[in-house]
Amino acid sequence: MDSASTADRREKIRSAVNRERLVETAMALVSVPSPTRSAGAVADCLAQILANDGFEVQRPVADWPEAPAVVVRLESNRPGPTLQFDGHLDTVHLPFVPPRLEDGVLYGSGASDMKGGIAAAVEALRALRETEALAGGSILLTAHDHHEGPWGDRRQVRALVAEGFVGDAVMLPEYLADRLPLAGRGMAIFKVSFLRDGDPVHEVLRAPETPDVLGAGAELVCRLRNLNKTLVRTSDPWSGCDTVFVGLIESGEIYNQAPVGCTVRGTRRWVTPGRTEAVEAGFRALVNELAVASGTPATIDFQVQGDAFRVSREDAIVSAFQTAYSAVSGVELPVGGKPFVDDGNTYAALAGIPALTHGPDARGAHTLSEAVEVDELVRVARVYAMTAVAYCGGVVHPPQ
Ligand SMILES: [Zn+2]
Repeated sequence: MDSASTADRREKIRSAVNRERLVETAMALVSVPSPTRSAGAVADCLAQILANDGFEVQRPVADWPEAPAVVVRLESNRPGPTLQFDGHLDTVHLPFVPPRLEDGVLYGSGASDMKGGIAAAVEALRALRETEALAGGSILLTAHDHHEGPWGDRRQVRALVAEGFVGDAVMLPEYLADRLPLAGRGMAIFKVSFLRDGDPVHEVLRAPETPDVLGAGAELVCRLRNLNKTLVRTSDPWSGCDTVFVGLIESGEIYNQAPVGCTVRGTRRWVTPGRTEAVEAGFRALVNELAVASGTPATIDFQVQGDAFRVSREDAIVSAFQTAYSAVSGVELPVGGKPFVDDGNTYAALAGIPALTHGPDARGAHTLSEAVEVDELVRVARVYAMTAVAYCGGVVHPPQ
């Protein structure tokens, strides 16, 4: 497409993004409580909103009958890639805060994480349909439950990928706006418990061979600290370095009683995509070696939250995004690393597609004070729609 028509399409999109309609959608989504694993009612609400807009809505169960996912496609009916917009409708398990709009700021459960972002993606979809701005390809909108840990296990995203509800690239409107993340670390949460048979006993009354569970836990903390010193040498320019971190050790009741258990909890993070199994095997080997050496049986819980990922700076979705971002904000967004793990890690690992997390500059995720400026939601809607135009229409297709 030539530059005149590009500018024309952008201007049409800019004015097609409807602030009132976007806010109404965001408030409707926030008004339905949806703690993780119980997002069925808000999924129904979103499906109804989209159906009222005239979209054909699919509801794949996607491994969670309690809250079937919400899927909509917008086709240009011309060849080209599919850009996916994906968001989670569930919120963390905190007391429900109803929606409230005050001085251009939306408050309430999920306003930041991430019903505001989903509403912006929905508004982008509407603007693309109304302006018929997609020169090729299609948009796939997916929304689902089971995101927030530890309550959810990401089964619905995994099922959506397995069932083919996947684009050629995916954008996730999570609350990250100060950088474009081209890499992110994989992460697992571990819980190691050293246990012994028998009851708690006064230290002077215990049998000489009684396993020292607390000592084994302390030794594990030391070994993990030493491991961390070598891990940090494995680094990525954007996402940081490999780490192992202990945040909690729990054992004992009083100072002179031999306890029966000791639990150590923390995180293991890694920068290299595809290392999930090797990382877990290495961690288990370290713990098992200590368990044998100390004569203290250990149980290991190693919950992988997502693999590491990288997106090439040369990827078409990155240039499409920067073109759109510049058109809206005047400059390109600096690139960087993603500080958290989100569903983008899962899409990258399971579907092998580039995943860009970009959403509103919002506050208070995982607190009772979530807040997002409506201006930010409008900005995100414009960026998403313009990215779609650049990505889906940016390819020259051979005649059919
Ligand atoms: Zn989120």
